[in-house]
Amino acid sequence: MAKVLIATEKPFAATAVAGMKDVIEGAGNELVLLEKYTEKAQLLAAVADVDAIIIRSDKIDGEVMDAAKNLKIVVRAGAGYDNVDLAAATAHNIIVENTPGQNANAVAELVLGILVFTVRNFYNGKAGSELMGKTIGILAFGNVGRNVARVAKGFGMNVIAYDAFCPAEAIEAAGVKACASQEELFKEADIVSLHIPATAETKLSINYDLCNTMKKGAILINTARKEVIDEAGLLRLMACREDLKYITDIKPDADAEFAKFEGRYFSTPKKMGAQTAEANTNAGIAAAKQINAYFAEGCTKFQVNK
Ligand code: NAD
Repeated sequence: MAKVLIATEKPFAATAVAGMKDVIEGAGNELVLLEKYTEKAQLLAAVADVDAIIIRSDKIDGEVMDAAKNLKIVVRAGAGYDNVDLAAATAHNIIVENTPGQNANAVAELVLGILVFTVRNFYNGKAGSELMGKTIGILAFGNVGRNVARVAKGFGMNVIAYDAFCPAEAIEAAGVKACASQEELFKEADIVSLHIPATAETKLSINYDLCNTMKKGAILINTARKEVIDEAGLLRLMACREDLKYITDIKPDADAEFAKFEGRYFSTPKKMGAQTAEANTNAGIAAAKQINAYFAEGCTKFQVNK
């Protein structure tokens, strides 16, 4: 029997926890909960004797791993896993998994929702424009990117995409034009929607020069990670290109400075892309099932620190 800890500063919905409990206990494992913790010391104490941890945006670093002597697997219920120190996990022989795709539709619906809000001038009562017929450029055709393509097509948008690792044929098979490069995507799109992970390669990659190739009146929308944006460069560009808009679901460090571009900048008050009842439950249940599969069959299909 494995002891599984759900450690969440910001808890799952109660229905999600009930479902996860059924899944974990149904497989003969034990579930313990640490919710709304305020001090790292509480996390360090809670992990002392557990075999597995399910987290959301909670930080799992080397110190937590040192304190968790029996820990074998950490599952991040969600897509991004930059809150887990992968190198430390590998050094500790701990498997790290995410639950890809479970919140992708939620993020995609938010993208189109914020876009409508933006092109209608933040609902200020003045005439705006429409999305139909506009070109949306999707940077990274992963789980979220594919869902954005599906929803954008419903709006009658022209959809183009670029992904460094997904073959062009797979993009075209989804009825989307594949761009040969990130640069081509930025030049052709009226709206660029970012769906890249934050990696050594992508961090700060959305910079002054790249964004300066965007069409007149273009919109950059970021529901990925703030780290991929070169904030200083984008601020500089928006100061001289008064036609550009930056819309984000991840508040930039320089939020106050971006906010000076009135009518051209919007940030959700906090990351909301995956904040739906459905995504919350889907990701939590998927995490619980992945932990059962690991302890029952050694399944590591979703391991991210291979
Ligand atoms: P995913 O792993 O399914 O897809 C990521 C895609 O990025 C893959 O297709 C990969 O090939 C591609 N990629 C990686 N490096 C690239 C590069 N240098 N250039 C171009 N493409 C590259 O992930 P996902 O579930 O689609 O999530 C995408 C992003 O959205 C992540 O940054 C994730 O953290 C973020 N996200 C945010 C929210 C939110 O609440 N706003 C919710 C879910 C995901």
